Amino acid sequence: MTFTTRFAPSPTGPLHLGHAFSAMLAHDMATRAGGRFLLRIEDLDADRSKPEWEATILDDLRWLGLDWPEPVMRQSERTESYWQALDRLAELGLTYPCSCSRGDIRRALAAPQEGADPVAGPDGLVYPGTCRGRPLHDAGPEDAVRLDMAAALATLGSLPEWDETGEAPGRRRLDPEWMVSGVGDVVLARRGGGIAYHLAVVVDDAAQGVTHVVRGADLAEATAIHVLLQTLLGLPRPTYHHHRLIRDAEGRRLAKRDDARAIGLYRGEGATPADLRAMVDLPASGSGIDNGAAPVLP
Ligand code: GLU
Repeated sequence: MTFTTRFAPSPTGPLHLGHAFSAMLAHDMATRAGGRFLLRIEDLDADRSKPEWEATILDDLRWLGLDWPEPVMRQSERTESYWQALDRLAELGLTYPCSCSRGDIRRALAAPQEGADPVAGPDGLVYPGTCRGRPLHDAGPEDAVRLDMAAALATLGSLPEWDETGEAPGRRRLDPEWMVSGVGDVVLARRGGGIAYHLAVVVDDAAQGVTHVVRGADLAEATAIHVLLQTLLGLPRPTYHHHRLIRDAEGRRLAKRDDARAIGLYRGEGATPADLRAMVDLPASGSGIDNGAAPVLP
């Protein structure tokens, strides 16, 4: 398989320095390996995704010196593939409809354990299981679809493993106890029929032949969900590279709302792509190697 990385921005705001670092690193790693760098527009959230943001992001990425094959994959055009994957999980008997609102979930979690903080995992609060066991034919448009985590784990012959090459490299193995107590029954489709990120990302990484997923360390925990879904769906397993996060001088992660770090503003002030590489401590050569320092941003 050709060494293939991808950058998968959500067009819900400007490209900021943290995204630029992720994209440049994925691009550099592919170039160094003589492989491919792909782009995927993660516009599943129809309300927040805007064509203007997509245009700005693509323009900033080109300005940074990155290139990628066209046409670019766009999640909003891939609904059919996601529903096929969801149907497959339903055929395996691993999904159920869920009508609980966030408030319902919070109340159900608070009841038996007064005072204790409910556990939040990579898919949010661990679902208390209120709707588990509801038959799928009972599902209405106001229902979400969840994965029955314990049932899914029970179908596994051996525990899936994967390689991590980023900040904390090593071989990882799925931890079934944590999957039940710390992750729970993840949402696969939202109320109203929108597909959830965790399902879309595994379907898309497989469809694009991604061999190396390069992304921020904030998504490292979610990888266990992705590996489980790949195993259930018979999809190939990439290697994962979760890189350091770019933080501001107070140590906070950059977020889309931190427009002060938007690449467009640095461009407007006359910064060059080389300046931005230096700011995030990436070698100018595009060697695909992360210096690994944690620079303090001006
Ligand atoms: N679209 C996600 C984001 O913008 C990236 C998800 C991924 O790289 O798997 O945070």
